[in-house]
Amino acid sequence: MAGTDRGDLTRTAILALLGTVGPLSRTELARELDLSPATVTQLTRELMGYGMLEELDLKPSRGGRPAQRLGLVGSAGRALGVKVTADHLVLVDVRLDGEVLGAWECAFDPSSPEALDRLADAVEAVVSGSGRGVTARTSASAGHGQAPPLLGIGVGVPGSVEDQAVGTVNAPTLGWQAMPVGERLRRRLKLPVLVENDVNALAAAERLYGRGRTHRDFLVLTIGRGVGAAIVADGRVYRGARGGAGEFGHVPVDPAGPVCGCGARGCLEAYVGSAGLLAARAASGKPDEQVFAEAGAVLGRAAAGLINVVDPEVVVVLGEGTADWPLWQVGFDPAVRAQLYPGRRDISIEVESWDDTSWAQGAAALVLATPFDAAGAAGEQGRLVRARLIGTTP
Ligand SMILES: [Zn+2]
Repeated sequence: MAGTDRGDLTRTAILALLGTVGPLSRTELARELDLSPATVTQLTRELMGYGMLEELDLKPSRGGRPAQRLGLVGSAGRALGVKVTADHLVLVDVRLDGEVLGAWECAFDPSSPEALDRLADAVEAVVSGSGRGVTARTSASAGHGQAPPLLGIGVGVPGSVEDQAVGTVNAPTLGWQAMPVGERLRRRLKLPVLVENDVNALAAAERLYGRGRTHRDFLVLTIGRGVGAAIVADGRVYRGARGGAGEFGHVPVDPAGPVCGCGARGCLEAYVGSAGLLAARAASGKPDEQVFAEAGAVLGRAAAGLINVVDPEVVVVLGEGTADWPLWQVGFDPAVRAQLYPGRRDISIEVESWDDTSWAQGAAALVLATPFDAAGAAGEQGRLVRARLIGTTP
């Protein structure tokens, strides 16, 4: 799988389909990918030989022989995901099938001149198993036998990244301008490194393990310190011309509003981000219920605007802020429904329970998704990840 011949693309397409819709029979694979049964038999035999696919249970059939289903082998690979915040790092070790093997954290100062070295130190401490300078949050499940091969490092940042495989970061909330995160980590760690906006990374995880299994068009909204969105259109995360798509927090709400972290006035985030909420609470003296309900209404109107533009099948709300969702919902629900375009008012808006390691799991999914990415959004780094998956060093 080192080159990019037709067979490579077909193998990737098989992995992509199994990675996004779950186990399928050979007949279903042939039908979905418009391949001959002989081609599917040959390619799946090769992938099983690489240890990437396994035969699962028999699928009951109406008449005829029950079909053997094929699925991805979760232990074929793992990735380390890192979430960078303004004051700490969270790191997780995740298997190809999404199972979390361990989670760690450490304090982090993005304004330090040594910030990138400290980031690399933390990753190295987890990769090497030394644990130096990082605190384990969940004890790594010992598991049986060998740990799966490490395919690469995914990094999620609250900012924009023009090219995942290059990994140069602009993030005002971290004080980072053109920070060469990917380059520095690759040089230190000698591993494939992908860097992406954290909300886009969450959407990559949803595409792989969540809504992407049943929907090709969906929106991910996040609330917490910042407010963000990721747009999954036709099965892919829409990144825009410079990787900056989805800056939902900077939708203008009121030109006379408070100054936002981006420098403009009256952005959505200045009202409903956690700092804006705290300020509103302190300035108004209103009870929490009312502050959250008003923020929910502001968020609901803005969300309706985005839904009207993008036309998703479903909306998923994630992020630290969802812990208070019952308070937000009082204002959010009526506001969003009132502004949705006719015919969309029954759209499903689902709020998921939030796990503190979810951001870092999204970052790991950047790496874990590359074997299934026929379009090669991860570029050269994606090729290196695939080479590590089948155990060949290019
Ligand atoms: Zn702004």
